[in-house]
This record gives sequence, structure tokens and C-alpha cells, in this order.
Amino acid sequence: MSHLPHAIAIDGPAASGKSALAELLAARLNYFYLDTGLMYRAVTHAALARGMALQDEAAVTRLAETIQINVLPGAANAARNYVTTVDGRDVSAELHRPEVDRNVSAVSAYAGVRRAMTAQQQRIAERGNIIMAGRDIGTVVLPNAECKIFLTASVEARARRRLADRRARGQSATLEQMRAEIEQRDALDSSRSVAPLRVAEDAIVLDNSAMTLKETLTRALEIIQARAQAFA
Ligand code: C5P
Repeated sequence: MSHLPHAIAIDGPAASGKSALAELLAARLNYFYLDTGLMYRAVTHAALARGMALQDEAAVTRLAETIQINVLPGAANAARNYVTTVDGRDVSAELHRPEVDRNVSAVSAYAGVRRAMTAQQQRIAERGNIIMAGRDIGTVVLPNAECKIFLTASVEARARRRLADRRARGQSATLEQMRAEIEQRDALDSSRSVAPLRVAEDAIVLDNSAMTLKETLTRALEIIQARAQAFA
């Protein structure tokens, strides 16, 4: 590719495949990948672990402002590709637990929590060659990203994928539960007043309901290539 973008933003609803796509893109392009969902999950997990009342916005915001969250690539042979630490403790294995899934949208709706996370994400992006995935990357965190992809899929397709993820983690769940959770998270993420999930004006929408991961990767690379040419 001629001139690769400095930043690639990938936004989209829960379980649309952002992480799987972003990891492949990062490996292919030799970029750093940051899954911003892990940061909101880390705040939620820290609040739950401290027994905090999650409706106490002031306390949860203070927590988000004071804990030190790091998301770094794991060792080549590690169980996870990325390791998330909170104040130095590895919490990676706990961030996709059902109680975090159920509460993360409420925590991430707090303006102060978003302010703290957005500031960290913008600092991380300064190093360049970054792929950032989330809900508000193209709209709020990196509005000047040269390439923005909005990755989406039908609720049915996303519920099936989330069910497979849960089962692979040894958790029991039904398709009906996954559908309900996804619909609820979509509704909360899209309706909040601060940085709601929405398609940035200059984003390309990629619906992968009927695509394999390989097909999604091919299409995303075409989109990035087209943007690279536009900026060359
Ligand atoms: O992407 P993931 O499903 O791990 O994100 C978990 C939750 O974190 C989302 O449902 C959303 O509430 C929140 N989030 C957010 N903004 C981001 C990334 C995630 O509000 N940039």
C-alpha cells in the first residue's frame, strides 16, 4: 500500500467482530491494536471487585480517574493475545465474565468515565500506526482518523457468535439470552447522551452478517487501500 493511514478506527455494536478483524489487520499491517472496550470493562470490573454501587456515578468516575489501566500485547505463547492490567494486576481472564457484560454499558455511559478513558486513548494514538476499536472512535476519540470502518451484523448473527465465544470460555448460555443481552447493550450504547454508538459521517459501513472472517478481512483491506490512495 502506498501511504498507510496513521490511525484506523473500527466502531460497531457488540459482537460485530471488531476484535477479530482488528487483530488480523494489526498483524497484517504491523500496527498496534487497542480494544477500547477492554478499558471500559476494566473500570467495570474494578468497581465490582471493590463492591461499589455502580449507580454511584461520582465514586465510579473517581475510580476511573485513579486506576492505572494498561492493555498490551501478550507474549507469543500466552493464552491471550492482549493482556489487560489494573494497577499492575492482570485482570484479562475476568473482563468477559457475564457480570461485566451486564454492567459495562451503564458504567461507560458516565461522562467522567468517558473523559478519563478518551484522554488515555488519545495519548496512546499519538504514537501512530494504530488500529483502535470501540463505539466512539471515529466520532469522538479520533475524529481525524484517515480510515473509519463501521463494522456491523444482524442481531441474530452477533448472538450466535457471542454464544460460541461464551461456550468456548466454558460458560453456559442460550441463544435467546445472548440475543436479549446484545439488544439491551445496543440500546444502551446507542441511546446514551455522551458519545453514543453511531456511524461517523466519513465511515464506511461493513455488514458482515453473511461473511466469513477471511472475507471481512479482505473487504477491510480494500477499504483501507482505497483510503490510502485518497490520502496519497
Ligand atoms: O467492545 P466491547 O463489547 O468489549 O465493549 C464493552 C462495552 O464498553 C460496550 O458495550 C460499551 O458500553 C462500552 N464501550 C464504549 N466505548 C468504547 C468501547 C466500549 O462505550 N469506545
